[in-house]
Amino acid sequence: MQLIELSCSDRLVVEAGALFTGSSFIAGNHIRVHISDGKIEHIEEDNDQLIEPNSHKNCRVIGGDHLTIIPCFIDCHVHLALDGVSSSLEKQRINPLLLKDRLQDKLFSYLIHGIAAVRDGGDREGIGVACRGMVERMELKGPLVMASGKALRKNGGYGSFLGPGAAPGEFAQIIKRYAVEGSNQIKILVSGVVSFKEYGRVSGVQFDLKELSQIVQMAGDHGLKVMAHASSDEAVRLCIKAGVHSVEHGFFVSENSLQAMAEKGVAWVPTVVPVAVQNQGRPDGSYIKDRLVIEQTYRRQLRMIRCAQQLGVTIGVGTDAGAAGVQHGAGFWQEMQLFREAGLTTEEILTAATRNAAYIAGLEDTMGTIAPGRPAYLLVVDNDLSFESGQLPGIRYMIRPRPDAGAVSSSHSA
Ligand SMILES: [Zn+2]
Repeated sequence: MQLIELSCSDRLVVEAGALFTGSSFIAGNHIRVHISDGKIEHIEEDNDQLIEPNSHKNCRVIGGDHLTIIPCFIDCHVHLALDGVSSSLEKQRINPLLLKDRLQDKLFSYLIHGIAAVRDGGDREGIGVACRGMVERMELKGPLVMASGKALRKNGGYGSFLGPGAAPGEFAQIIKRYAVEGSNQIKILVSGVVSFKEYGRVSGVQFDLKELSQIVQMAGDHGLKVMAHASSDEAVRLCIKAGVHSVEHGFFVSENSLQAMAEKGVAWVPTVVPVAVQNQGRPDGSYIKDRLVIEQTYRRQLRMIRCAQQLGVTIGVGTDAGAAGVQHGAGFWQEMQLFREAGLTTEEILTAATRNAAYIAGLEDTMGTIAPGRPAYLLVVDNDLSFESGQLPGIRYMIRPRPDAGAVSSSHSA
C-alpha cells in the first residue's frame, strides 16, 4: 500500500472501473476522480465527454480499470492506550519513549488497513488525547484521532481503567474539564461488561435516566456528543431516552430498542469482534471462557445487526481494538467479515465502514463520502470486496491531504 499525501499544489487523477461514493456504487468502465488542492474537483464517468489527453499534463495519473475507489475507512471505536493483550491499567503507565514507539506501531497498522481516522473510546491516563496531539504535530504518522480522553463513570462502577469515578454532583465540573482538556466527545460507561460465562448477563447499569439526560445536556452545552458504552437492553433503553449520539456494543439489545434507535437517530456501533475472538482459545490451546456462551452471544449480535440494518439504524464499524484479542487495524477487517456473516451486502458493509462511521465519529464534513468539493480521502483497492475472508485485500493506495495542509483538524475548538 502506498500512502499519497497531497499538498495544496498537487494535482492527481485516479482512474478506476468502479467507485463507491459512501452509500452506493457507480459502475463504469472508466471513472476518473480529479483531485487538486487536497479536494475532489470532479468525477468523470463513462458517458461524460472524454477529456482531452493534454489536460492530464503536469498531473500524476494512477489507478486502472481493474481497481475500485472507495472512501477511506474509519474505525468508530478503538483504545489506542491498550495493546490487545490485556486491558490492565499497568500497561498504560509505560515509559513515554516506549509509549511513542508502541503508538506508532498501532497507527501504522491503521494506515496499512486503509483506516484514515479512529474514534478513541478513552483511557484513564489520557493517552488517546496525547496521541492525537502527536499525530497533529506530525511527531507520529497515523490516522486522524477523535479522542474521548478519560471516560465518565460513576464511583464504584465498571471501567476503572478507562476513567476515574465521579459522584453525581461532580458531572458538570468533570465534563467541563474534559472539554477544556480537549475531548472530541464524552465517553460514558452506562453498563458493565458482557459475561463470557453466563449467557445474557451484563454487569449493572451505573446511571439513572435523570443523571444520563443531564450528562447528555451538559456535554451538548460544550458542543460534545455522547458515546455510550451500553450492553443489556435496559442500558440501551436508558441511552435512547437520554438522547446519546451512539450506543457502543449494545449486546442483548431488543428489536423494540432498535426500532426506537432508528426513529430517534441514535447510532449503533455493535463491536462484535471483541466477543467473537474469545472463541479462538489461547496460544496454549486452553479455553478460559465458556465457548458456547460466547458463540451464542455473538451470533445473537449478528442477528440484531441484520435486524438493525432492516429497520434503518445507522450502524458503524467499530472494533474496540486494544481490548483483549483485538488487534489495531486488523480487527477492522474481522469486524467487516462478521457484518458479512450477519448477512449485510457489500454496499451495506461499506456504508457502515465509511459514511456512517464518519457521521458517528463527527467527521461527516471531512470523510466518508466521495463527491466534488469534499476533502480527498480515498482508497484505491482491488475489485474483490467480498469481505468473506477477514483478510486484508489489495489496498493499492491511500490518498489523503497532508496532515499539515490545514484543510482538516480533529482538534477540539470549543
Ligand atoms: Zn471500548
